[in-house]
Formats: sequence, structure tokens, C-alpha cells
Amino acid sequence: MTDQTPEFPEPQQRPEAPPAPAQQQNQQRRPQQQRTQQHRDNQPQWPDLSVVIPLYNEEESLKELHAQLRAALSRMNIRYELLFIDDGSTDRSFQVLRDLKRTDKHIKIVRFRRNYGKSAALSVGFEKAQGNIVVTLDADLQDDPAEIPSLKKRIDDGLDLVSGWKKKRKDPISKTIPSRFFNFVTARLTGIRIHDFNCGLKAYRREVVKTVKVYGELHRYVPVLAHWEGFKVGEVVVQHRARRFGKSKYGIGRFWRGFLDLLTALFTTRYLRRPLHLFGVWGLVAVTAGVLIDGWLAIEWYLGRTSLSNRPLFLGGILLIIVGIQFISIGLLGEMISKTRAAETEYQIRDFIK
Ligand code: UDP
Ligand code: MG
Repeated sequence: MTDQTPEFPEPQQRPEAPPAPAQQQNQQRRPQQQRTQQHRDNQPQWPDLSVVIPLYNEEESLKELHAQLRAALSRMNIRYELLFIDDGSTDRSFQVLRDLKRTDKHIKIVRFRRNYGKSAALSVGFEKAQGNIVVTLDADLQDDPAEIPSLKKRIDDGLDLVSGWKKKRKDPISKTIPSRFFNFVTARLTGIRIHDFNCGLKAYRREVVKTVKVYGELHRYVPVLAHWEGFKVGEVVVQHRARRFGKSKYGIGRFWRGFLDLLTALFTTRYLRRPLHLFGVWGLVAVTAGVLIDGWLAIEWYLGRTSLSNRPLFLGGILLIIVGIQFISIGLLGEMISKTRAAETEYQIRDFIK
């Protein structure tokens, strides 16, 4: 936001935000203005970029990761912070981080009391991040910090969220094949044309991380949620590296949970406001099909061709009618819930010019 645009407070403004610029105030009150200016200069400077790094038992990787981050970021000549979120590690990760912090004032550490999962770690990271751009990165050295400038460039060029695309994946095949399928289905169902939803390396404009709510295991769907809120989502090809230390924290179970989370993501974005549009349509289809089938059977019976007792389809028709009515009822219940929640439903306002 430039100083000249009329401002409307962002919903989640930095709590310690410096006072609004004094530019539009009366030009004659110079001393006051000067003082305001001085006051602003005394405020700590907000970082341009925050790197959020969720980690769970990654003690061997951290030192090198930090060195690589530092090398990449110092070349960029910007103010930055490194926000490590220790998701309840049981190894020495936290001690390693604390030692690193002594050598580098950019480091901030959040430590969870227990393991809550990557989504929780990202969510807290997003809340604490102060930079204008927020980059997320896995802690296991699979993502290359040297990619940060190219992600940042896409944001500077106008995207709100840039997702990395691990075009050449360095993972076992048991992971890459299900992952392809998963990405294909997700892209199809959500209409977002990106190839790699689950890449740890992403960059966000500040508004995105302060708007999108990540919980459960929804971190894979941040692009979906952001797209739904009206943010511009894009991708950039990134290098991927094999895991050198430790092991992956996810097994095959992630795909089942992943799909359930996809349902949640679709449901809470597309149909959150009109649940009847989803359930009602299918309910009506089922009821209509059931009524047609049973009506036809009833006419045949009436004309005396067959008795209903040896028409199994009759039961099928009844089932369709019952299921259809259930669907419509669920849709209506959903509407009632969404109506009572309407007050807290937020619409994303981009600008408000008076
Ligand atoms: N991670 C986390 N909490 C968890 C599981 C994983 O913070 O409960 C972190 C992990 O330390 C790593 C990132 O999330 O930095 C990605 O995890 P992993 O490398 O195991 O996933 P994969 O690369 O296999 O998709
Ligand atoms: Mg990994």
C-alpha cells in the first residue's frame, strides 16, 4: 500500500504497526510532521521477507539449511527474518536452532509442546511472520533456498501466491506416482492450473497468509483456498533434492487423508455459502429418477402385466426417492447452518476508495 492511497485498515494489521503516514495531514504543521517522521524512524523496521520453516526432527539438516538460507538471502540485499517452527521435535533440533540463533539475529524460533503437524506449524508461522512476502520451505534440505529470488520475482510481478513445481522429483516412486494422480485430480476439481500442490517451497504476499486459514492437514490446499479468496495463484519450476538425513514424516496414509482434505477444501470454498446447491441438485436427480422408475412400474402393474413383488427395480426406485429426500434435507440443514453463520462470513475487500 503506498502512502498516497486512501487507507482502510487491513483486517489483520500488524498489531505493533507504526502510526499511519502523516502525508495527508495539514502541510503547515511541520514540527508535528517531523516528529511523526522521527517517531517512524525509531520503529523497528519490518522485514521485506519472512522465511517460515516447519520442522519435525530434522537435527542433521538444520545447520546446513541455515548456511544455505543465509547465503541466498544475503545476496538479495533485503531485510529478512528466519522463522523456524519446531513442531514438537524429540531430537536435538531445538538445541541446534538455539545455538544457531546465537550466531544470527535473523532467527526466530517457535517451539510446540508436542507434534501438531505441518499445517499447524505453518499456521503459527503465518501468524507470526512480519515480512511483506512470506516464503515457506521444508527443513529437510529437499527445497533449495537459492530458488527464493525467483519466487520473490513472481510476487513482485503481480502474483499473490507462487507455488514451486518440483518438475524433476527426487523421491521414491511410491511417492511420485500417487502424487501425480493426486495433483491431477486436485487441479481438475478445483480448476487451478498448477502441477504440484504439495510443494513445500511457496511464496505468498502478506495478505494471503493473513487471510487463509490453514488447519487440519489443509496445508496442501493453500493454493486452493487462496484461489477461492480471489488471490492470483501461479507456479514456477524449482529444483528438488533427495532427502539426505532422517526420513519422510509421511507414509501412504497421507493420500487417503489428502483426498478427504480435498473434499473439505472443496466443500468449505465452493459450497460453503450454498450447500443446497450441491446436495439439492443430486437429491432432486435421485428423487426424479426414483419417481419415474416406480411410476412406470406402477402403471405396468395397473395394466395387469406383472405384479410388483417380482420387480426388484421397484425397491431401487424407493431407495432413490429416500436417498434423494435425505440429500435435499441435508442441503437444507446446511443452508440453515450457513445462514446462522452468515454474520461471520467474510468477503475479501481488496480496496475501499472513498
Ligand atoms: N513436518 C512438520 N511436522 C510434521 C511432519 C513434517 O513440521 O508433523 C515438516 C518436516 O520436518 C519437513 C516438512 O514438514 O520440514 C516436510 O516433511 P517431509 O519432508 O517429511 O515430507 P515429504 O518431503 O516427504 O513430503
Ligand atoms: Mg521432504
